[in-house]
Amino acid sequence: MQTTQKNILLVDDSRVVLSMVKKAIFNCSEINSELVTAESYAQTKELISKHKFHVAILDVTLPDAPNGEVIDLLLAQGVPVIVLTGGINQASKSIILEKDIVEYITKSNPQSLNYIVTSVKRVLHNYDSYVLVVDDSKFTRAQTSKNLKKLHVNVIEASSAKEAIDILYNSKYYIPLVITDYEMPEMNGMELTMELRQSYSKDRLSIIALSGSENSKIATEFLRHGANDFIKKGYTDEEFAVRINVNLELVDLFRQGKDTASKDYLTGLYNRRFFFESGVPLLQKVKRKKLPLAVAMLDIDFFKKINDTYGHDVGDIAIKEVAVILHKYLRISDLISRFGGEEFCILMDDMDINDIYDKFEHIRTSFENNIIEIKDLRISYTVSIGIYYGYSSTLEEMVSLSDKALYEAKGSGRNKVVLHTDS
Ligand code: GH3
Ligand code: MG
Ligand code: MG
Ligand code: MG
Repeated sequence: MQTTQKNILLVDDSRVVLSMVKKAIFNCSEINSELVTAESYAQTKELISKHKFHVAILDVTLPDAPNGEVIDLLLAQGVPVIVLTGGINQASKSIILEKDIVEYITKSNPQSLNYIVTSVKRVLHNYDSYVLVVDDSKFTRAQTSKNLKKLHVNVIEASSAKEAIDILYNSKYYIPLVITDYEMPEMNGMELTMELRQSYSKDRLSIIALSGSENSKIATEFLRHGANDFIKKGYTDEEFAVRINVNLELVDLFRQGKDTASKDYLTGLYNRRFFFESGVPLLQKVKRKKLPLAVAMLDIDFFKKINDTYGHDVGDIAIKEVAVILHKYLRISDLISRFGGEEFCILMDDMDINDIYDKFEHIRTSFENNIIEIKDLRISYTVSIGIYYGYSSTLEEMVSLSDKALYEAKGSGRNKVVLHTDS
């Protein structure tokens, strides 16, 4: 996921409020943005002439701007605004709620700091989130996109279910949310939902159906077939914003939990479970395009000797070194996992058969020439690599074929790359 440095603007004439909000945001480990504060309208004006802000938390009443003028100032710059008020009269409140703000938070609410942090986190995260809009009508697509852009998410459009599938399977971005129309020629939204659910579970991809249909059964059917939510055309801006944000949030939460469950503690590489979980959709994707996949199994040679000679801790360092070297030579899109012990499995698509052998031969010699220095120890080891390159029917089968190649590499003297293909 692409993440760029983001800036938060906080404006309030009370130093106490400034320091409390600042501390709450600072304490949130998931927000790594720069926070700049101002105490007046004049100061704010000066700041925005110098910096670009990605979200603003604004007090309604400032000494030099008592009627929420600062809100309009930031909205005019296209900055998402979270309004903070100390309790104002109903008339002023309605005026503010009319504006295109993200959230309206009352300072007196004991939960207000939590609301601010959650809201800031959501807005900032939206800048890095990609949403795919699927609709055969150019007009509706544009309308949905426009509403999504108000939430500062990145929008990708598809004019058919087929195009949507293509985009999802091939996107270099992680797309957590699809919004699909129901009635479309060739493949409708419900069929698209069913198809996508073959590859993506609800904790990886959220699907929202958007339809103008008067038939109330459609919503239920959509949910039954795997959609997370249903929005009826004619929605209000607020309803739309809430539904989108809630669904994005859910996928994020699942992902955070998953990161701990899908990674190996020692190396930070993916674990075996995750390898199969994300390898299967990749296999489906390349099958569609009738392209081969490569599975490489790498195992440290005589690793037991390192453990026996230097101890388990040094053994651990030697294992971690594998991750360092593999990251150095492989692409971000390659799925690198630790299968257990000193055995690693790599899944790669979009590789030429000659390149694949050369690449792993290069990796093999890098291990051969590598020396790990630990205090006054100098350790080195070699690896054996078995690769299967081809079109096998299941991922399990491909892994087992690469394992066979590895066995051969070990049997013929170790420190070798053995490549097997279909023919
Ligand atoms: P070969 O060349 O045939 O692969 O021999 P080898 O010694 O590398 O392989 P073997 O499977 O006999 O031994 C692997 C050893 O790896 C056994 C196990 O104690 C050790 N091991 C497994 N997981 C870890 C770990 O997380 N840390 C350390 N330090 N050692 C581990
Ligand atoms: Mg339609
Ligand atoms: Mg070994
Ligand atoms: Mg082994």
